[in-house]
Formats: sequence, structure tokens, C-alpha cells
Amino acid sequence: MSRIIPRAQVESFTGSFDAIVCGFGGAGACAALELRAAGLEVLVLERFSAGGGSTRLSACEMYLGGSGGTSLQRDLGIADSSENFERYLLQCFGAFTDRARVRAFVDGAAGHFDWLEGQGVPYRRSLFAGRDVVTLTGDSLQYTGNERAWPFAASVTPVPRGHLPEDAGHDGGKVLMDVLMQRVAEAGADIRCDHRVTALIRDDSGRICGVEVKADNRLQHIEARSGIILAMGGFIMNEELTAQHIPQLTAFCTRHGNPGDRGDGILLGVAAGGNAIHMGQAFVGVAHYPPAQLTYGIFVNAQGQRFINEDVYLARLGAAIANQTDMRACMFIDNQYFARPDYHQTTEIIATGDTVAEVEEEAGLPPGSLQHTVAYYNEQAAQGADPLFHKSPDWLAPLVTPPYALVDYSLPQLQPTCFTLGGLDTLPTGEVLTVDGEIVPGLYAAGRSAAGIPRTGAGYASGMSVADATFFGRLAGRQIAASAGQP
Ligand SMILES: Cc1cc2nc3c(=O)[nH]c(=O)nc-3n(C[C@H](O)[C@H](O)[C@H](O)COP(=O)(O)OP(=O)(O)OC[C@H]3O[C@@H](n4cnc5c(N)ncnc54)[C@H](O)[C@@H]3O)c2cc1C
Repeated sequence: MSRIIPRAQVESFTGSFDAIVCGFGGAGACAALELRAAGLEVLVLERFSAGGGSTRLSACEMYLGGSGGTSLQRDLGIADSSENFERYLLQCFGAFTDRARVRAFVDGAAGHFDWLEGQGVPYRRSLFAGRDVVTLTGDSLQYTGNERAWPFAASVTPVPRGHLPEDAGHDGGKVLMDVLMQRVAEAGADIRCDHRVTALIRDDSGRICGVEVKADNRLQHIEARSGIILAMGGFIMNEELTAQHIPQLTAFCTRHGNPGDRGDGILLGVAAGGNAIHMGQAFVGVAHYPPAQLTYGIFVNAQGQRFINEDVYLARLGAAIANQTDMRACMFIDNQYFARPDYHQTTEIIATGDTVAEVEEEAGLPPGSLQHTVAYYNEQAAQGADPLFHKSPDWLAPLVTPPYALVDYSLPQLQPTCFTLGGLDTLPTGEVLTVDGEIVPGLYAAGRSAAGIPRTGAGYASGMSVADATFFGRLAGRQIAASAGQP
């Protein structure tokens, strides 16, 4: 299948627009709104019978802050300076960080929250200060990442930045996308569902100037005079691509996305000369909480040794387990704190005992290993200390109430939820870049078709993907408008 068609091979266009947005999910809807706000003629193409994409499936946590705080943070008396927000993001992604992108996000995230509220997304001025992945309390602000965990809390002031639509629980994505899709329709974009983008059209100058679309089993060719945005999500549903880029996870991961997450946007961008980066990076969700009390447990590997502070966010734990021998890890816990994890109800208890030695033997761990780990942990925890991994004193307690259990969190058994973080290299304003850092003329990307703010699972926090997709979708829309001479 050819993903690039020379303009000369296209007899005629069946339509012509200022801009074409490919994919009607979070990034696409936001791009379309900015393009319409600038007065451009916009076509939105969506593969399925309705828009929404993975954004609609999401809880729609959005990781936002900076500029002194979003209006929601500030109304709750929570200050969030841009410097603090930026330092946190730089610490999250280290060498993977795109500094210019982070800077643009930090500067604009609080304003983005106002824009979302202005579109009609409802938020409540209330904080959930507990430990959960998605709070079901109806509150609109919570901690969603590693803010309160070592090493982050040691150098950056912890601030809650997970913004959730009011009372939505896991259904926040429906709330967001229903609002955004209605606004796009009201704004007068031409929205065509059941239209799958199959190829890009390139003119003699090398500019991407149109798309090939399949609808009703027929191919059409449509012109974009000012720009095309690839906003077609990630590639977790594409078995070939995931086998190429995340083979270590492919055999057992639970694919977290919508059926359209086939990497079409990335493949089209690469065919046009774009560079796909960080394709091996993924979110691996090992939700060892809620209930929060499970944070008192400790994780050990096949050597019976701890390897992480257990108060981290679930994707940091997933990334750490992926690095252990055979991706094996178990939670050791006592009867006082034992519970079934809400999101992994079927975790297997592989050993129990009235003593740590019994558990160790039943699990087949190296003799003395678990006993040593637990004895040292308990001794330190009794003094409110964790010299090895600095778990917060809030979650330190000696595990001394038998019976004890070892619960299996090995990735092959757990089958954690995964989605991809790699995508097209772009400027913060969406222009797709080649391997040499040159702009592919006429072509933009946003959302998980691009490599965004979140670039590793170890640094990920709930809310970083939808915030990134919607924020940078808007920037790409504005950039096309600017290139077309519109404000
Ligand atoms: C259950 C679940 C919960 C999640 N919760 C959160 C959360 O709370 N916070 C967070 O930050 N992240 C969350 N995520 C991740 C997040 O939802 C996604 O990474 C993000 O929404 C992607 O946005 P997008 O705009 O790039 O893609 P999408 O919203 O998936 O939009 C892409 C659109 O492009 C369409 N498309 C694909 N191929 C074509 C084609 N060839 N032609 C035309 N159209 C095409 C798709 O059908 C889709 O509608 C969650 C993911 C899942 C699955």
C-alpha cells in the first residue's frame, strides 16, 4: 500500500479546504476548534461512525498547572509556580525531555484549563487528597503521579495537578468529548465520519497538499490548502507495530485504547519523511492501589529483594517491574494491610505462611532472601525510615501481623494495561520533523500520533496524555492558521 501519492497522479480533488484534521479524538477536536476560531474552512475526517477515540474512553484526567496555578488550583488555595511545574516534568522525563515542548506546556497549561472550562467542561472546586488512580468522590483535583514520592518530592514541591470533570469518575472522557464534538459541529467544521484517511498527497515542491480517503468503499482525494494535522492516536492496537517496537510486552499486555489506535497517523507521517521517535516507550499500568492501604506492602523481585518505593504511581511501578528478571515481582504483605487491588482482582497469592520463612520457602525464593528483606524493612519502618528507597513515612509500617502473603504482580501473569508513547517528532507547534530536523511542509501532528510531553512510563502521571493531546492539538491548529495569515 502506497501511503504517499504524487499530486500529478491525482486527476482532480473532490473537495478543497484550508485545513484537514485527520482523526476526531481529543487532539483533532481541539485543533478543529482553533482552526475554526481563526476562520479557516476545516474538514474533520474520522475513521469510525462517531468521533471520540481513546480520549472518549479515558477518565479525562488532565495534568495541568503552572503560572501560579490553574483557576481551580488557585480557588483551592494551591499555588503552582511554572518553575516548580517545569522542574517536575524535567525530572519525570530526564534525557527524554523535549525542553521546548515542556516550556510551551508549562506556560500555557493554566490557560488551557480556562479554555476547557470556557468550552463547557464542568469542574468542581474540590480536592481529593487521598491516594487513588481516578477518584470516585466527584472531586475535580487530585494527585495523579509521583509528586509525593521519592525522588520527586525530595527536590520539587508536591502539587496536585490531575484535573477531572466534576462527578465523572471513569467517564470523564465522555463528558469532555461530548462537549468538544458539539462545539466543533457548532463552529461549522465539516465533519465526516466513516472516512478513513489512507494516504497523503505530495505536490512537486514536496509539500503535503491533500489526503486520500476511503469512504463507502470508494477512494476520494481532498485538497488542504494550508495544512493537514495527523491526530489519529497511538499504535497499541497494531500487533505488527507493537511486536516491532515493544516486543517485550506484546505477548501479554492488555491493549488500552480504541480500535483505531493502529498507528495510521505515525505511518503516514513516516511515509511523508517524518521521524518517529521513542517508539519503544509505553505506559505499563500496574495498579497496586486502590485500596490505598496496599501501599504499606513491599514489592520484591525473583531475588527476594526490594527494588522500588511502593508509594509511586502505577506506571512507574510497571516500568520498574519490566526491568526485573523475567519481569517477575510480588507484593509481600501482612494480614493487617492485605486487600485485593481494585483493578487487578484476580492477582494470584503464590505463597502464604505464619512466618516470613514459610512464605519464602513456598515461593521458592533464595533461602534467607525474603527474610532478610522483610527484617531490614521492618526494623527501619519502625523508626519511620526507608534508607533504601525513601518511601514516604505516611506509608511505612512494620509488616508483623501474620499470616503473611506473597501476591503475584509479574507482568506475564498480571497482563497490565499498556498504551504507546512514541510517535512523530514535531515542533511544539505541530510541524512534523524529518530525521534531520527539517520541517515536512504542510504536515502537522498532535496527540499520540506525535511524541508529546509524556515520553516514558517511568515518569508518566495520569492526565499527561489527554492534557498533551488537547493542548498541542490546539497549538497545531493555531500554527496552521498563522501560516495561512490568520490570527
Ligand atoms: C480506558 C482509558 C483511559 C485513559 N485515561 C486517561 C486519562 O484519564 N488521562 C490521560 O491523560 N490519558 C488517559 N488515557 C490515554 C489517553 O486517553 C490517550 O492517550 C489520548 O486520549 C489520545 O488522544 P488522541 O487525540 O491522540 O487520540 P484519540 O482520542 O484516540 O483520537 C484519534 C482518532 O483518530 C481516529 N483515526 C485513527 N485512524 C484513522 C484514520 N486512518 N482515518 C481517520 N481517523 C482515524 C480514531 O478513530 C480516533 O477517533 C486513557 C486511555 C484509555 C484507553
